[in-house]
Amino acid sequence: MQLGILLSGVVTGSLYALTSVAVVIIYKSSKIANFALGGTASLSVYAAYAASGQHLPWVVLLLIGMLAGAAAGALTELVIRLLGEADHLSYVVATFALFLITQGLIVWIWGPDNKPFPTAWSTESGWRLDGVLISYNNILAVVVALVVVLALQLVVQRTRFGLAIRMASSGPMTARLLGLAVKRVRFWTWVLGGGIGGLAAILVTPSTTLSPSGFTSFMMVALVALVIGGFTNIRGAATGGFILGVLLNVLGFVFTPSLTQTYLFGIVAVLLFVKPNGVLGVRDATISEPVIHSTRFRRIRSDVRENAASINAYGQNSRNAVPRRVRRSAAAVAIVVLIIVLPLLVPTTLLVLLPQLTAIYISVLGLNILVGYSGQLSVGQSAIMAIGAYAGAIAVAHLGVPTLVAIPIGLITGLIAGLIIGLPAVRLGPLFLTLFTLVLSFAVPEMITYFDGITGGTQGLELALPASLFYPTNQYWLGAGIALACTVSIYLARRSEFGRRWIAVRDSTAGSQATGLNPGAVKLGAFVVASGLAGLGGVLNASFTGLVTPTDYSPFLSITLLVAVVVGGTGSIPGALIGAALLTVTTAYAPEISLPPDLILGLVLLVVLVLSPAGAVDIFRRAGSRAAAIFASRSASTTPLPRDEPKVRVFAGHHTPSEREVTGPRPLLEIIDLSAGYAEAKALSGVSIALPEGSVTALLGSNGAGKTTLLRVISGLVRPSQGEARYAGTDISITAPSALAQAGIAHVPEGRGIFPDLSVKENLSAARFSGKHQGAVDISQALDVFPALRPLLSQRAGSLSGGQQQMLAVGRAMLTKPRLLLLDEPTLGLSPLAAKNLLSSLDAIRGTGLTVLLVEQNARAALGFADRAYVMSGGRVVAEGPSAHLLDEDILASYMGVKA
Ligand code: ATP
Repeated sequence: MQLGILLSGVVTGSLYALTSVAVVIIYKSSKIANFALGGTASLSVYAAYAASGQHLPWVVLLLIGMLAGAAAGALTELVIRLLGEADHLSYVVATFALFLITQGLIVWIWGPDNKPFPTAWSTESGWRLDGVLISYNNILAVVVALVVVLALQLVVQRTRFGLAIRMASSGPMTARLLGLAVKRVRFWTWVLGGGIGGLAAILVTPSTTLSPSGFTSFMMVALVALVIGGFTNIRGAATGGFILGVLLNVLGFVFTPSLTQTYLFGIVAVLLFVKPNGVLGVRDATISEPVIHSTRFRRIRSDVRENAASINAYGQNSRNAVPRRVRRSAAAVAIVVLIIVLPLLVPTTLLVLLPQLTAIYISVLGLNILVGYSGQLSVGQSAIMAIGAYAGAIAVAHLGVPTLVAIPIGLITGLIAGLIIGLPAVRLGPLFLTLFTLVLSFAVPEMITYFDGITGGTQGLELALPASLFYPTNQYWLGAGIALACTVSIYLARRSEFGRRWIAVRDSTAGSQATGLNPGAVKLGAFVVASGLAGLGGVLNASFTGLVTPTDYSPFLSITLLVAVVVGGTGSIPGALIGAALLTVTTAYAPEISLPPDLILGLVLLVVLVLSPAGAVDIFRRAGSRAAAIFASRSASTTPLPRDEPKVRVFAGHHTPSEREVTGPRPLLEIIDLSAGYAEAKALSGVSIALPEGSVTALLGSNGAGKTTLLRVISGLVRPSQGEARYAGTDISITAPSALAQAGIAHVPEGRGIFPDLSVKENLSAARFSGKHQGAVDISQALDVFPALRPLLSQRAGSLSGGQQQMLAVGRAMLTKPRLLLLDEPTLGLSPLAAKNLLSSLDAIRGTGLTVLLVEQNARAALGFADRAYVMSGGRVVAEGPSAHLLDEDILASYMGVKA
C-alpha cells in the first residue's frame, strides 16, 4: 500500500514537474509568471477532445494538444505585446485576463460538465510490483517529464537559443544592443512553454477527468513547486514538483485526501516564512538597466488623480470662480442625495442587485488599497471575504447572535485574519505574495467544506436579516451607508500620513527605508485594512443573500475582484465603484445572454489594459480632456510661441551640412534637428551632429545634458519625436535596436551591460547575435586588445572588477565588428589608473576605420582621445569643434565646470 502511495506520488510529481518547467521557461525569458497557462493548457486538451470524436489514435490527440498549447502560448505572448510598455503588474493581470477568457470559452463551447478523454493504454494495463499496478500511462508520464526537463536544461545551458534566453532574461536592453531580437526569443519561449503546458495537460487527464477547471487546480500545485524550486531554475522546479507529488500523497494517506489545498497552503506558508524568496531558487543576477518609458507609457498603479493633474488644469479658469471647498461640499451633498434616491430611480431588475453591489464594492475598495495604494498584488480577497462571512454566520447559527451584530463580527474577523495572514505575506516579493494568496483562496473553501460540523459543509449556514431589512431597498440603504462610511475613511486615510506611507513604500521600498519607514509595517497596515474591508464585504454579501456556502467564495471570485480593481482603475475610489458595478451586473446578466461571466470579464479587462493600464477612470478622464482640448483649441489664439533658438559656438574645423555636401562624402552618422524624450520629460531639442567615417568624436556636457539620450536615439532605444537620424545614408529614426546592431552600430551603455551570470567567454560569445559571424565567435580579437581578460575566460562575469567588466563590455562590442561604436562613460567608476589603461587600450582601435562616439565625464581625457567634440547643455548642442580648440577655449569652464 505504502509503495502504491509513493509511486503514485512520483507520477503526479512528474506531471507537476512538467507543468512547472513550462512556467519556468516562459518566466526565464520574459520575467512574467504566466497565470494563463492553467486556462490555455485546458483549452488545448479540449481541442484534442473535440478531435477525439474522429477516432484518431491517442498520439495524434497528444500532438493536437501540444500544437494547440503552443498556439495558445503564441497568442498569449502577442496579447501581452499589445500592452506595449506597461508596468509589470499589468502583464501579470493580463495573464489572469487570458485565464478567465480561456476558462469562459471552455464553458461556453463544451459546457461545465466533466468529459471522458481517451488514454494511451487502458488504465488497467501495466506491470505489477508487490501487487501494486504500475500502469503504462503512468510510466509514460514519468518518462516524458524526465526527458522534457533534461532536454530543456540542455537547451538552456548548451545551445544558441539557450544563450539567447539567458541574455534576454539577464539584460534585455543590452541583449538588443548586441543584435538579439529579444521579442522573437521571448515569443518562442511562450510557444515552447505553451506546448509543454498542452503536453502536461493531456498527460494529466487520465488522473483528473476532463473538466473546465481541473487542470487549473493541478497547475496550482505546479506553481507551488516553484516556491521550492524557484521561478528561473528548471532543475529546481522539477525537483519541487516531484517533492510535492510525493509529499501531498503521503499527507493525504496519513491524514485525509480532502484537504490537499490546505496542506499546500501550509507548505507554502512554512516555506515562505523560512525563506521568503523560495527554497532552492537561485535568483538570476540581472543587469541594472534603465527603464525607458516612451511617451505612450502610463503606469498601472498611478494614482489616477495625480496623473490627471494636467487634465484638471484645463478647466481651472472657469472653475476658479467657485472656491474649491464649496465645489467639494456640493459634490459630496450631490453624491449622498444620489445614493439615497438611487433605489427610486432604477428598475426593479437592477434594484435587486444594489445590496450586493454595496458588498462587492466594499471588498473591491479593500483590494484597491492593496493593489493600488500599497502595490501588493493579492488574489486572496475571496478567502478573507469567506472568513468574514463565516465568522458572522457561525456567530448567528451557533451563538444566536442577531445578524446585524454579525456584521461588525465579520469586519473584526477580517482585520484579525489580515493581521495573521499579512505577517508572513508582507515579507514576500510580489510574485510569491500573489502565489501565497492564490493558494489561500483555494484552501479556505476547502477547509470550510471539510469542517462541516461548524460550517454546515456544502449546505452552508443561514443568516437572516431582521424582517425590516427584508426588502432590497432597505438592504441597499444599510449597505450603502456602510459603504459610504468605508469610502470616507479610506479617502481620509489616503490623504493622511498613513496613506502617504503606502504610496512611498509602493513606489520605492529602498527609498522609503532610507527615510526611516518600516516597509513591512506599512504593508501590513494596508493588508489589515484591506482584509477588514474584505471581511465586512463578505459578511454583508452573505446577510443580503441570507445564506453562505463555500462555493460563494471560490478562487475565481478573487480573480474577478482583481479584474474589478484594474478595470475601474487601481488607486481610484470611483474606479472601485465602476469595477464593482461591472462585476455585479456581469455576474447577474451574463447567463441571460448565455455567456459565461468569466469570458466577458476577461475580455473587458484585456480591452481596458490595452487602452489604458490605469483603468476606466483614466480612459474617461482622457476622453474628457481631449474634448476639453478640442473645445479650448477652437477658442484659443493661434499665435505661435517664439522659439528659443540655441546659440551654437562653432570652432575652427566645423563642417556644416552644406559644406560637407560640397567637400566630401556624406558622414557615417548625421543627426539633423532632432528632438526626443521620455514619458516624463523632453531630453533633446533640435540637436544636429555629424560623424565622418573613421573619426573619433567626444560628446561632452554636464549631468542631464542629454548625452546618454542622444546615444540611445542613435542605437534605437529612444525614438525621436522630431528630426532625423541618418546612418550610412539611411533614416534610422524608427529602426529597432537589434536591427541597428546588425547594421553595425555597437552601443556600450552606461553601467557596462555585461551579463553577470554568464562566464566571460559566454559574454564575448554573445557578440554572435550581431549577425557578422558564421558559427562561433573568434574571441581572440578582443583578447588581443584586452589581454587582461585572457586568464578570466571561465570566470562568472559578475565576479569581475569594475575595470575588467568595462574591458569585457568594450571588447564584446568590438567583436560585433561595428562600423560605429558608441561608448557611454566607459571610465565611470574606474580608478584613475584603470581609466587611463582603458583609454590607452582603446587607442588600439583608432585608425582601423571604426567611427567612435565617446561620452565621457572626464572632459580632458576625452578631448585627449578624440579628434573632435560636441558639447551639450540642456538637451541642445552648445558648442562643437576640433578637440584641440575646445581645450583652448573657456567652453569647459562654462559648461563642464572644468578650468581650461
Ligand atoms: P549624465 O551625465 O548624468 O548621465 P546625460 O547628459 O547623459 O547625463 P541624460 O541621461 O541623457 O543626460 O538625461 C537627459 C534628461 O533625460 C534628464 O533630464 C533625465 O532626467 C532624463 N532621462 C534620462 N534617462 C531617463 C529615463 N530612463 N527615463 C526618464 N527620463 C530620463
